[in-house]
Amino acid sequence: MSYSDLAPYYELAEAALVVTAGQPFANFPQNTTRFRSRPPADWRDLAAHVESFGHHLGSLPMAKGTPWMIAARGTEFSSYHSIVAPLLTSDLFTLVRGAQVTRLNWNSAKQRVESVEYTDRVSRRLTTMRGRAVVLAAGAVDTTTILLRSVSSEFPQGIGNSRGLIGRYLHDHPKEWWPATPSHRMSALAHPMYLSRQPYDPANPLVASSLTIGLTSHRINTYLRRKTRSFGVQVFGTMIPRPDVGVSLPKAAGAAEESRPLINLRYDQAAIDNMVHARQRLRDVFASAGTSVAVDGPFHSLMPGSSFHFGGTVRMHRSPEFGALDGWNQLYDAPNVIVCDSSCFTTGPEKNPTLTAMAIAARAGDHLADDLL
Ligand SMILES: Cc1cc2nc3c(=O)[nH]c(=O)nc-3n(C[C@H](O)[C@H](O)[C@H](O)COP(=O)(O)OP(=O)(O)OC[C@H]3O[C@@H](n4cnc5c(N)ncnc54)[C@H](O)[C@@H]3O)c2cc1C
Repeated sequence: MSYSDLAPYYELAEAALVVTAGQPFANFPQNTTRFRSRPPADWRDLAAHVESFGHHLGSLPMAKGTPWMIAARGTEFSSYHSIVAPLLTSDLFTLVRGAQVTRLNWNSAKQRVESVEYTDRVSRRLTTMRGRAVVLAAGAVDTTTILLRSVSSEFPQGIGNSRGLIGRYLHDHPKEWWPATPSHRMSALAHPMYLSRQPYDPANPLVASSLTIGLTSHRINTYLRRKTRSFGVQVFGTMIPRPDVGVSLPKAAGAAEESRPLINLRYDQAAIDNMVHARQRLRDVFASAGTSVAVDGPFHSLMPGSSFHFGGTVRMHRSPEFGALDGWNQLYDAPNVIVCDSSCFTTGPEKNPTLTAMAIAARAGDHLADDLL
């Protein structure tokens, strides 16, 4: 699957998310932008100064909804309110609430998954729901757990796992937050600024970082257009996924519903060094504009799992030897099952994952619908 295969689905997802963004900038794909954000003049000046030095700064694209809105939800975009709720009036859609899926059932005569088993969270009643196809999108850890629990005589290690690949290549975003203090006061940011990844050419493959710069002082400062020296920076780095088993079920627990998944993930020295280098990148950005910024910490320890951006455990690959999913997110072992959350990612870039997961899910769903006609 190439970027151009996915581009139309990015547009669909971005339209649903209602994106507010600034002007396009390098090393960051352009969005379908509904509303424009314009950084304060001093931040625009900084971005213009540093561009020729290979540093690309601009407004972070965000799913902020319309500039003025009243909504009965905690965030501007929520998948339930923005996507699921509008479907409730359709005769073709039924929402089953409180259904904890425990496993998929394999029919060896028909060579396909024929049903999903779930427990009602309130009554604890076990129900089997039959279907022609299954879309699995419970997030990288839970999707993996469901597949590992779906054992049968044909798939003793779980559906999709005939080559023992499910649960491997787990990755998460190495993430840091730290304070940054420019040498002179700058406008308080109502909308965060984003420093996109290093150019691809000189960078080591799969190694990158992005920095999101936001406010640490009182939000009122943005309304009063005040200046401050107090900014917070969130860094996302990359890690190179390894074939080690990342998500597994405890052996003694077998396929029992109650068995909790074990998560095994560590950041190697290269991933840690990349995060440290990101601090220097911010200093370089300010230096190339003839000014400076202090990045003196405190720095917290890097904790795998702290980003909740897990991915990779049911990866897509051209060959079933290296990945459980084909290029349409179908399990090689059971093509009537698509896995379309971030577990299908082969690597985790330095960018937020959800937009890509949404685009991949839309593409895979489209293809599955065609298959079922
Ligand atoms: C604090 C926080 C901030 C984040 N900020 C960002 C951000 O700014 N940008 C970004 O791109 N990403 C962000 N993320 C990550 C983002 O939340 C995920 O990438 C996104 O939610 C993944 O969507 P999903 O539908 O694949 O999985 P989920 O949103 O995890 O949805 C999976 C659903 O499956 C359900 N489920 C799980 N197991 C079962 C089961 N056995 N049976 C039935 N249902 C089940 C879960 O209840 C859940 O509703 C953030 C995450 C956190 C925790």
